[in-house]
Amino acid sequence: MLAVVAGAVIGTWFRPAATTQTSAVTSSPQQVEALPPVRTAAASPAPEPAPNTDATPGTPAAPPDASALSHLRTRDLTLPVTGVGPAQLSDTYTQARAAGAPHEALDIMAPRGTPVLAVEDGRVARLFLSKPGGITLYQFDPSGEYAYYYAHLDGYADGITEGASVRKGQVIAYVGSTGNASPDAPHLHFAIFKLGAERQWWRGTPINPFLIWRDAKP
Ligand SMILES: [Zn+2]
Repeated sequence: MLAVVAGAVIGTWFRPAATTQTSAVTSSPQQVEALPPVRTAAASPAPEPAPNTDATPGTPAAPPDASALSHLRTRDLTLPVTGVGPAQLSDTYTQARAAGAPHEALDIMAPRGTPVLAVEDGRVARLFLSKPGGITLYQFDPSGEYAYYYAHLDGYADGITEGASVRKGQVIAYVGSTGNASPDAPHLHFAIFKLGAERQWWRGTPINPFLIWRDAKP
């Protein structure tokens, strides 16, 4: 219920401003860690739930989407941080964050300024500044079925604008600790979610990125 109320309140002032490059900071005081957008299953009266708000406490977790996971594994996604291989990843997807909300993302530790790479081709759906996530980037895959979410960025790479096409492996941003990340522990918060039929950049069913690369060759 809390999330619904919060969403409604935020929704009254957060309206899509599609041409705005960086948007208003969300007011989600319970966050200590960036989280992926609310799940598709979330019932909210707000027509535009605030992106990157907490993962809707009270809503049952969506079941793992096995077909989406196996589909994404066929795409040979690039690990999104330069110099980090699969063996260096650890699964932080189910770690609890503030207010008991699940993390539903992969944290990849790296020095500040390390290049962040597009995991595959696609386009920049949104550049967004949020209180928990800091400087963030939402990328859609080529089919518009999936969104890739990169958070706590130090900044964007040159030429990265909303609507820009990106190529797999392209430098799109740099690792940082913006938002609620500890300044002493810069990292990339990376999430994948399967978009709903509406293709809303802030809303979808989360998929564990760690499982994409767990069995990959180093
Ligand atoms: Zn994280």
